[in-house]
Amino acid sequence: MVTFVSLQDRLLDTIAPYRDRVDYLEIRLEQSESTLISYRGVHLDAVDRSFSLVGNARACHNGGWSFVTFNGLTDLKDRLEDAIAQAKLIGKETTQLAEIAPIQDYVAVEFGRDPRGIALDTKRQLIEHYNRLLVEFDPRIQTTMTSYSDRFKTTYFANSLGTCIAQERLDVSGRFGVVAKGADGLVRQGFESVHSRSDYAALEGLEAQVVQAADRAVRQLDAKPVKGGQYTVILDPYLTGVFIHEAFGHLSEADFVYENPRMQELLVLGKPMAIPQLNVVDDGTIPDLPGSLKYDDEGVPTQRKYLIKDGILTQRLHSRETAGKMQEAPTGNARAISAMHPPIVRMTNTGIEAGDATFEDMIRDIAEGVYAVRMLGGQTNGEMFTFSAAEGYMIRDGKLAEPVSDVTLTGNVFQTLKDIEAIGNDSVYKSGGCGKGGQSPLPVSTGGPHVRINNVVVGGR
Ligand SMILES: [Zn+2]
Repeated sequence: MVTFVSLQDRLLDTIAPYRDRVDYLEIRLEQSESTLISYRGVHLDAVDRSFSLVGNARACHNGGWSFVTFNGLTDLKDRLEDAIAQAKLIGKETTQLAEIAPIQDYVAVEFGRDPRGIALDTKRQLIEHYNRLLVEFDPRIQTTMTSYSDRFKTTYFANSLGTCIAQERLDVSGRFGVVAKGADGLVRQGFESVHSRSDYAALEGLEAQVVQAADRAVRQLDAKPVKGGQYTVILDPYLTGVFIHEAFGHLSEADFVYENPRMQELLVLGKPMAIPQLNVVDDGTIPDLPGSLKYDDEGVPTQRKYLIKDGILTQRLHSRETAGKMQEAPTGNARAISAMHPPIVRMTNTGIEAGDATFEDMIRDIAEGVYAVRMLGGQTNGEMFTFSAAEGYMIRDGKLAEPVSDVTLTGNVFQTLKDIEAIGNDSVYKSGGCGKGGQSPLPVSTGGPHVRINNVVVGGR
C-alpha cells in the first residue's frame, strides 16, 4: 500500500528536528502557473506561459534574520542548515516576535470558471477583441497597452511553532491602456482594469467598460489646463482610495514608524486626526479583492482593522516582529510578492468607509472648486504628497462645469486629513499594485467614497 503524505505534512516533518536550534524557523514554498498575453497597438507583444516551484527558508536568532531561497525540494535540509547558520551569525540582540497560536489549515479557491481549463487562443482572441475596440475608437488614439493575465498558485507554509498552512490563490486580470495625441502634440492617457480572484468570466462582456479608457483619454485632449490655486476639491472614489493608500496607508506600516522617531511622535495612537465621521480601514477579509487573504506570509490571520476610527488614530499595520518590538497586537500584514522574497509589512485592502453625504450634498454650496477624477501618477515623500488626476472638472455655482487638465494635488497628509469636510455614501474598492522594498507589484486594493476637502493646493500648467 502506498501512503500519500501531503506537502504540508512533509514540510512540518522536515522542520521538526530543527525546532530547538534557533529562536524561530519557517519554510514557505510556492507552486504556480501563469499566463500573460499582451498587445501594444495592433501588435501581439507577448504570449507567456510559465510554471514554477520556488521556496525559501527564513530563520531568526537573537534578533538576526536570515533568508535563503531555493528551487525544488531536493536539498531542503541543507537550506535549513544554511538559514540557521546565517541567522546565528547575524543575531546580536533579543528576538522579539509577537505571540501567535499554531494554526493548521487548507484554504481553497472557490472557482467560477477556472482559467486553467480555457485554451490559450481563446484568451488571446478575447484580448485582441478588446484591443481592437481601443485601437479603432478614434483616429487620435496613438497606441494601446492591453493585457490579459492569470495566475494560480498554492503557497505552503510551515514554521517552528507548529503552524502549517496551504493557501490557494487565483488572480485573473485585464488591463486596458491607451495613449491619445492631439493636433498640438499633447498626449493623454486613459486606463481601465478588471480583476477577479475566482472567475475567468469576469473578463467577458467588458466592451462598454474597456472603451471608457479610450473615451477618457480623447476627452482630456480638449480640456484646458486648470488655473493653479487653492480650491475646495472633491475626489472621486478612485482617487480617494489611492490617496488614503499612498499618503496615509504607507505611514501606518509599523516598520516605517519604528525606524522613524518623528513619525512615532506624529502617529501616537489615540491622537485625533480628522473629523469624527472619518474611518479608515485595512481589511484582508473582504471577499474576492486583490488584497484579500486568510493568512499573511507569516501564517497570521488577516483582520479588519481601523487605522482611524471616528477620526482618532487607533491601529497600525504589523508583522510579528514590529508588533513584538512595539508591544502591539499582530495584524496579519506581513506579505511577500513571491516565495523568492521575505515578507515585509504591507497593506491589504485599504480604504475610507462610506459616510452619509450624497454627491449633490457635497457639490451644492461650492462656488468655485475642482472635481478630481482617477489617478495618473504621483509621489509621496514622508508626509508630503503630489498626485496628478487623470481627469478634472471645474465646479462652478454648485454644478460640474468645463473639463480641465493637468490637475495636480499637493499637500501635507496630516493637514489634508484635517481638511476633509464631507464623506460620501458611495464607497467602492478598485484593484491596484503596490511597490515597497523592491517588491512590486503586490496585489492590493484601494477604496473609498467621494470625499470633499477644503483648501487643496491645485497646480496647473
Ligand atoms: Zn503602495
